[in-house]
Amino acid sequence: MTTSIRLLPCLTDNYGVLVHDPATGATASIDAPEPGLILSALDENGWTLSHLLITHHHADHIQGGPELKARFPALKVVGPAKEAAQIGFLDTLVREGDTVRVGSLEARVIDTPGHTRGQVNYHFPGEALAFTGDTLFSLGCGRAFEAPYAVLWSSLVKLAALPGETKVYCGHEYTQANARFALTIEPDNPALKARAEEVARLRAENRPTLPTTIAAERAANPFLRAAAPSVQAAVGMAGADPADVFAEIRARKDRF
Ligand code: ZN
Ligand code: FE
Repeated sequence: MTTSIRLLPCLTDNYGVLVHDPATGATASIDAPEPGLILSALDENGWTLSHLLITHHHADHIQGGPELKARFPALKVVGPAKEAAQIGFLDTLVREGDTVRVGSLEARVIDTPGHTRGQVNYHFPGEALAFTGDTLFSLGCGRAFEAPYAVLWSSLVKLAALPGETKVYCGHEYTQANARFALTIEPDNPALKARAEEVARLRAENRPTLPTTIAAERAANPFLRAAAPSVQAAVGMAGADPADVFAEIRARKDRF
């Protein structure tokens, strides 16, 4: 039996995700943007929530936590050790290299600081799935709110090194706006142009642009391509340290 995924558009542009393990009945919610929608999706599928995996402390990712905890007393809430004080309702604190079990599924925890100081992402190698919160978006990345650009770059390098076929679910539907910016950096990148067209089609039908894959992001996401000669040339930094090129691209996007 294969793992079931439900992608839930929440709030204005957030995504909730449910991951269900049919072998054990375990079901995890990745973040808790909007408890009402998470509860109705659980209901429709006849699932009971067993785990809540939090990526970072921002309100749009944690605000449904207390309500889900009240509704499911056995819920195991997992989240970043470094943000435990800010989140307040975690049962299990995790960090780089820890394993999180959701029924028979196993996630490896990756520390991805930058957007927030202690953000974690969850990689399920057996399912080829990654939940990247507000670290990696399709064609973009989170703002470096709580760490220098170079720290966020190191986090993105770790994500880019996951197997190419890994399906990526992130915290927001920002892909179309990200595509507009990405095309200012690499207007002639064929992978980016194809993805931008696909995204325009999907959004015109109000459909999600997720999941993406690590391979697709490596090919089209300028924030993962700071070492590529085409990107370095585009920002006038041929031969520069990729961390510096990344910082320049991130700063341009901050002003875009
Ligand atoms: Zn955030
Ligand atoms: Fe967010």
